[in-house]
Formats: sequence, structure tokens, C-alpha cells
Amino acid sequence: MTLEDLYREVIMDHYRQPRNRGALDHANVVMEGVNPLCGDEIKLWLSIDDAGVITGASFDGHGCSISQSSASIMTAAVIGKPLADAHAVIAGFRGMMLDGAPPDEALLGDGVALEGVRKFPVRIKCAVLSWNTLKLGLDEHAAANGQHVELQHSES
Ligand code: ZN
Repeated sequence: MTLEDLYREVIMDHYRQPRNRGALDHANVVMEGVNPLCGDEIKLWLSIDDAGVITGASFDGHGCSISQSSASIMTAAVIGKPLADAHAVIAGFRGMMLDGAPPDEALLGDGVALEGVRKFPVRIKCAVLSWNTLKLGLDEHAAANGQHVELQHSES
């Protein structure tokens, strides 16, 4: 079995048996992403605790096998991670997919399996959709938290 075959197996495994699929109870971030080029849609739920750790992540959506398996891989890669680490994983994945950075399995886990998608440039957007959606969700959470802190401040 070549590495390419192995990676294809990993992608199809996440597509057929997605991890963390379906709405998440107690989510405090909900974000949607669309890739109109392919018709991929992702809805993402995150639960981020007061210490800034992603305690839960799930997704739902439809679209091609690359977009959906990438979302499954992404949720598995960030659950349990502090926000700074999650940002590092996002940057690592985007660097690999968009800039050709070498795959870092320690950082990305099964995410390295999507590196081969680079050979099909039109599909790169499918692979990064859920990761971009995650980044938007984290940015929104950070902005909302900033407001919250300010609000408490002005009340006191
Ligand atoms: Zn797609």
C-alpha cells in the first residue's frame, strides 16, 4: 500500500464514519461556511470553556468527500486544545494546503492525509472550508469575549 493509498483510506474513513457529527449541546460558538465552487456546506459547533480550552467541537453539513472528511478530521484535531494551540493547528493546515509547507503529523494528525489534494487545485477550497470556518468561529468568540469583559468593566 502506498502512502497515497493510505491517505485515501484515511479520508474515506472520515467520510464514511464522520467523527463528531451533529449538533453539540452547550455550544457557545456556531458558525457556518460555504464553498460555492463545489456546493460544500459546513455548520460548526464549538464549546469553549472559561479557561480558553475547546472542550467540544462538532459539525454537520453536506458536500464532497474531501470537504466532509476534512471537517471530521478538523474537529478531532482541535478538541481538548487551548485556543492558541487550535490557531497553530489551523495555521499549520492552511500552510500545508495553501503554501506547500511540509505535512506535520504531530500537529495535524489525520489532517496530513489531505496534503495530496494539493494536486487538484480546484479541490483545495473543499479541504480548507471547515478550517476557515473554525477560524471565523474562534475570531467571533474572541471578539464576543472582549466585549463581555468590557461590559463587565463598565458595569462595575
Ligand atoms: Zn468540495
